[in-house]
Amino acid sequence: MVEVHKVSGATFDSNVYLVLDEHPILVDAGMMAGPTLKNISRYIDPKEIKIIALTHCHHDHTGGAPELKKATGAKVLLSEKEGGCVGDELTTVSYLFGMEAPEYKVDGYLKSGMILDLGEWLLDVLETPGHSLGSVCFYEANAKVLFSGDTVFPDGNIGRTDMYGGNPESLISSIERLTQLDVRTMYPGHMEITSKEVNRQIQMSLRFARSVL
Ligand SMILES: [Zn+2]
Repeated sequence: MVEVHKVSGATFDSNVYLVLDEHPILVDAGMMAGPTLKNISRYIDPKEIKIIALTHCHHDHTGGAPELKKATGAKVLLSEKEGGCVGDELTTVSYLFGMEAPEYKVDGYLKSGMILDLGEWLLDVLETPGHSLGSVCFYEANAKVLFSGDTVFPDGNIGRTDMYGGNPESLISSIERLTQLDVRTMYPGHMEITSKEVNRQIQMSLRFARSVL
């Protein structure tokens, strides 16, 4: 039985998820590694984490990546479209947080069609640009689980498209793609985890995006 725990701890961090399968992984890294590592240690030795899969390069999702990588020894995966973003304060929007862009080595690039094999769960990589150039979501078809990054949030909310690399048309197409999935539980990059009529919530996000973008 696969378990997912939200392990981010700092106030402005993105959500960081610890997925406990045969090969434990983190989805996103937040900004502050300290509280996250402490929360991970409640479940497993951080060194057991094999992969840190980033939904996109923004600072609130990746600022903690250098320290988490060091502490875990995990491989860091990022969209191939955002390979050039590491260390760049504009594409990572680090300047919005008054911080320097995080520097870390990307060990592998994510693209549509890739599958992350965690043991029981097989996470499909879906490229969902719009909030950023190379935003991705992760979908597990059997468990009907979606890690939605900053593409969609609960209650019909959507990711911003007004930062570098943002694109309203792309976001609408990406959300259209997400409405074709059957989702039982959504783990968003911000806000709360939800299992309540998630397909309907994503439909609401699509209507909202079409009306405002
Ligand atoms: Zn973002």
